[in-house]
Order: sequence, then structure tokens, then C-alpha cells
Amino acid sequence: MMHSAILSNGKLITAKEYEAERHGIVLSCMDPTCNVPVHFVKGDVLNTPHFKTSGKANSIHRESCGFAKKLTFKDTVFKVNEYQETLRAQGIREFVVKLNMDKLDPDYIPKEVNRSGSEKEATPPPEIDQKLLKEKPETPSSLSSLKSIKKLYQSVSPDLLASIVISIKGNQIPISKLICHYDMAHYLFWKGNTYEVPYFVYGVVENVIRREKVWFINLTSETYFFTLVIFEKYFKHFTYRDEDLVNKEILAMGFLRKNEYTKDKPSTEMIIKSDKYIEFL
Ligand SMILES: [Zn+2]
Repeated sequence: MMHSAILSNGKLITAKEYEAERHGIVLSCMDPTCNVPVHFVKGDVLNTPHFKTSGKANSIHRESCGFAKKLTFKDTVFKVNEYQETLRAQGIREFVVKLNMDKLDPDYIPKEVNRSGSEKEATPPPEIDQKLLKEKPETPSSLSSLKSIKKLYQSVSPDLLASIVISIKGNQIPISKLICHYDMAHYLFWKGNTYEVPYFVYGVVENVIRREKVWFINLTSETYFFTLVIFEKYFKHFTYRDEDLVNKEILAMGFLRKNEYTKDKPSTEMIIKSDKYIEFL
């Protein structure tokens, strides 16, 4: 569902703010590679207001458009990045989603006594979608597992995702800068443009190397290394076999650090501590 479109004057408008009398009816797809004519659809009980192609003549999304078909996780990551820059440049209203992964850390000691035994899972994505669109977007939804991030990316449209800012450990970070391809994480990290927070990277596992005291999961070894690292202390929390990982698409979470010992090419590492730091896509 497309939540924003481009007006005849080139400005972006959200479906919630759109008024035909004020903004005119000449509208086009917000994807910069597409730009085909779209029209406004009023909200009803089932659907929130949105924009849509007619499906006739020239009003069909182009192949490269983020709304042409259901996107893969990887494509969503790329489109959200592309859209977020446009949305931010145009000052489109953003939504804050809280993210707290503390409970995934086997070393984490909760500050408060558990109220009850029942673990509260993150709000399911359809609700996040609705919450974001409802009257009180200031009330942050929250994410607390990789699974909930995966669901969010698989169920919310890319333009809406692109309006999310993640609140994590006192920082507010555009979602596309925190949940990204490892290539982007590596690039931002070596430019000094990352925060002291866990990052969430998408990638395909190239190989796994198991040494006596440390295991390495390589995402790439081409012009630089991007490696997930598990130390001996955490072996007991990590049960995946090599064949579960190699050639698989994953989303992995961890703090970024440089490995200063590899001299031949730059090496970014991400320390992971258990199975829960990886989600298969
Ligand atoms: Zn389009």
C-alpha cells in the first residue's frame, strides 16, 4: 500500500494529509524510478487512505518500482534506504519506534524483578502498521527481537518504513542507517558515521571458520572482511551447524568493531553471542 505520492509541484504528500482541492489530482508514484500516474483512495473500515495505480495504460508501476511487486527482504532494505533520503529531505513526518534487544544478550541482567513469568513479545507488525497510521503516532511501538524486525520489513510498505526513526540507547537513528546491508554498515563504520549501538545487517554467509577459541562467520572476504565473531565463552549459546549457515540469507545483530590485526584489507567484525543474534530470511 502506497502511503505517499508526488504532487504536480514535485512535493511529496502523505495520503493522510492529501486534499484534492488543495493539492490537485495530478499525482505520481513516489518511487523516483517509477513516477507513473496514481490516484487517491479514501480510507474505509478496512483500509487507511492510500494511493494506487489504475492498472490501465500508463498507470502501472515500473519493474524497478518498490510497489510493483512484493519485495524481498534485501530489496526492501535497499528501497527503504532510497526512500528515506527523499522523505527526510522533504521533511515528511517521521515516527519513532523504540528498539531494545537487551533480553537477547545472555549476559544481560534485568534491573527489575520480573513481574510475571510471561515474556511480552513485540507488537505484531500489522498492529505496528495501524499504530503508525492512527492518531497517536507519538506513542512509540517497540521492537525487541530480530524476528519482529523481519516481520516489520515483510509486512509494512517501504515508504512507511522509510518514515521510521529508531530510538535506541538514547540515540535516534533513521531506520535505513541501522538496519542495512553489511556493505553500508561497513562503509558508515569506516567513515566514523556509526553509533555505539547494535547494528542489524543483512547478508549472505560465505563461509564459517571454527578455531579452538573463536568462530568466524564470514559475510564477505572480497575487498574487505565483514565477519561475525563468536568467542569460546558463548559457544554453548550457538547451535547452528556450518550447513545451516553457508549460502543462507541472514539478518545479524551486533556491535561493530575493527579488527586491527588484518593488515591486507579492512576488516569489520560484529560480536555475536547466541543463536538469537541471527535470523534467517
Ligand atoms: Zn511505482
